[in-house]
Amino acid sequence: MNLSVRIFIALILAVVVGLAVGEEYIGFINWWIAPIGTIFINLIKMMIVPVVFSSLIVGVTSLGDTKTLGRISAKAVGIYLSTTAIAIVIGFAVAGVIHPGVGLALSGTAPEVKEAPSIMQVFVNMIPTNPVASMAKGDILPVIIFALFIGVSITQVGGERGTKLIGFFDACAEVCYKAIGTIMSFAPYGVFALLLPVVAKNGPKVLLPLLSVIVCAFIGSVIHAVLVYSTMASVFGKMTPVKFFRGMSEAMMLAFTTCSSSGTLPVNMKNCEEKLGVSRKISSFVLPLGATINMDGTALYMGVCSLFIANVFGIDLTFQQMAMIVLTGTLASIGTAGVPGAGLIMLAMVLQAAQLPFEGLALVAGIDRILDMIRTCLNVTGDGAVAVVVAASEGEHSSSKN
Ligand code: ASP
Repeated sequence: MNLSVRIFIALILAVVVGLAVGEEYIGFINWWIAPIGTIFINLIKMMIVPVVFSSLIVGVTSLGDTKTLGRISAKAVGIYLSTTAIAIVIGFAVAGVIHPGVGLALSGTAPEVKEAPSIMQVFVNMIPTNPVASMAKGDILPVIIFALFIGVSITQVGGERGTKLIGFFDACAEVCYKAIGTIMSFAPYGVFALLLPVVAKNGPKVLLPLLSVIVCAFIGSVIHAVLVYSTMASVFGKMTPVKFFRGMSEAMMLAFTTCSSSGTLPVNMKNCEEKLGVSRKISSFVLPLGATINMDGTALYMGVCSLFIANVFGIDLTFQQMAMIVLTGTLASIGTAGVPGAGLIMLAMVLQAAQLPFEGLALVAGIDRILDMIRTCLNVTGDGAVAVVVAASEGEHSSSKN
């Protein structure tokens, strides 16, 4: 049986078992089963830095010159930003039709809000003072910057020494992909163990009152994926939506269960190359960048949640407030780390900019894990779709080579 099907069965099984056993067995589940999920996700995380670093160097050296690198970056960032803005608008539209939260009473207290870093501080933080420390902490952006410099410099050194180094990093990347393949064969067990505690803990009791928000986020994500990503994949990558989503399915399911785009990155890179026909040159650069800055799901969630919070507090959003949400939501989603729960903290920033009450965060916080699964799944799918478009436009996609 193919791996995606096995992971899917594990996912369904976790939902069924989780609902059946409920909170009563949460102690047992947390003690015996949850650690298996943690082991699995740690194994994948173990591969992030090695695979990003080695394959990005190979990618950069195969681009040849910095002009091509600049062009590809500009394309990727441009498409990332536009799809993100579209996602928030779709979030608004769906929430505008479903009206989540109308008639719901507020309870609980808002979580603490962290100050968002200034835009210049973000640029400063991108440059590693010590690349090994950044690798140790798993900070992807500084690792990308370091790999770019090393890659460009290897090209400049050239000759026999340059070729030797490229061969070395190419072999490292290949070894990393093999290791990821081995780890993924364990995915059905990992996915089951990761999802079971979530379902058991958040059973219908927690979900039902806020079902309308979850439904909005889900419908919005499906619309975004079907409209935007299918179109991108078929127009540029000349592949049917079925082929695209099938190719992305392992990464999507992993994102859904782990709630981490960074954690899913190694699998996404492998899938995009092997199943979607994106060359390593493109995937090695576009996907790590996407995992850190492209968060369409998070943006859509911000649109849905701000409208939900406005509804709960009986506030009619002005056009200005909506424009503010689209703008800050797009920027906030760029700043969102690809780790579980990061979007909730950034939502606070959007609420502040749109002058919406912070207390609404407490409501969203209760169901954030479920919303996180939906948004992370969309975040990761978006990275894959953009990789296909950039690859096709550069003649680096399998469809342009046959
Ligand atoms: N968990 C999301 C991700 O990793 C980020 C978020 O919380 O929105 O993509």
